[in-house]
Amino acid sequence: MAPRVGFIGLGAIGRPMAVRVADRFDCMVWNRTASRADSFGRETGAAVAADPAALVRWADVVMTCLPTSTEVRDVVDGVGGAWRTDHLLVDCTSGDPAASRAIAERLSHAGVHFVDAPVSGGTSAATQGALTVMLGGAEPGISRAREIVSAFAGKVVHVGSVGTGHALKAVNNALLAVNIQAAGEGLAALVKLGVSGEVALEVINASSGRSNVTENLIPQRVLTRRWPRTFRLALLDKDIGIALKVLQETGVPHAAIGVVREAFAQGRKALGEEADHVELIKEIEQAAGVEIR
Ligand code: NDP
Repeated sequence: MAPRVGFIGLGAIGRPMAVRVADRFDCMVWNRTASRADSFGRETGAAVAADPAALVRWADVVMTCLPTSTEVRDVVDGVGGAWRTDHLLVDCTSGDPAASRAIAERLSHAGVHFVDAPVSGGTSAATQGALTVMLGGAEPGISRAREIVSAFAGKVVHVGSVGTGHALKAVNNALLAVNIQAAGEGLAALVKLGVSGEVALEVINASSGRSNVTENLIPQRVLTRRWPRTFRLALLDKDIGIALKVLQETGVPHAAIGVVREAFAQGRKALGEEADHVELIKEIEQAAGVEIR
């Protein structure tokens, strides 16, 4: 029988993921700001839980998509006795591996399985069902999680034990951050030399320095001066911090990631909690006294 899926966290990425889950499974949602859950319920026909405990009691599988592992832990602990044997928690938050191992350990005492299932691809891939999902955990949770995340995934990979999905996601996002900073700085210099952003990217995107940042983010968001807000810089700053911790804990040198950590922490202070991650380039432009066009 198809599982009943409870989804907690209807934010920028959680909402389009939950739309696809609700399309395929019997679904109940909860969101801290109730009006967002209510409009989701009206739009999709999903049930709306009065509180997280009601959702957990109803569901076979609970999904979380919250800012950090701290909010996940608070929700998990807050529902206390609602957990029961064979429940599965699939955490799609870009979380902290150590925190996830601790959450999984506590849940295991109640017979609850935990799988970390962070996603990559952004809000448009979520809407299209084309996210990449990295699973950390063990069977039978992995197979059960795979069935559900396939509602919004183009690619699902089981990467290792609990927390490894979160570690991989953090490293991926640290690479994204390195690319944003390096491309922003390099393009600012080229524009000052009289090379337009468009021409510079035409060459880079046919050369070895290309990345998602040069192929998609800068053309769509910087050259157009549109600066849409789809993924908060504050969340990327959090991800770089997790990556740095992973490198420190594994005893690996982390010079490059240390540098972007500082740049994004400063950008977060200057631009605020709601700024988009690509807006770091505004700070680079300001310091360089040039606009990348
Ligand atoms: P948002 O900030 O847009 O949404 C956060 C969600 O968490 C909202 O539903 C919010 O509720 C809820 N929330 C915040 N604080 C609490 C709390 N204390 N208790 C309960 N609920 C809370 O984040 P995103 O949707 O962008 O990101 C969610 C996760 O996915 C993050 O870990 C992020 O790093 C990751 N991610 C995001 C991507 C993106 O493109 N946006 C891409 C890939 C991963 P409320 O409505 O009340 O504010």
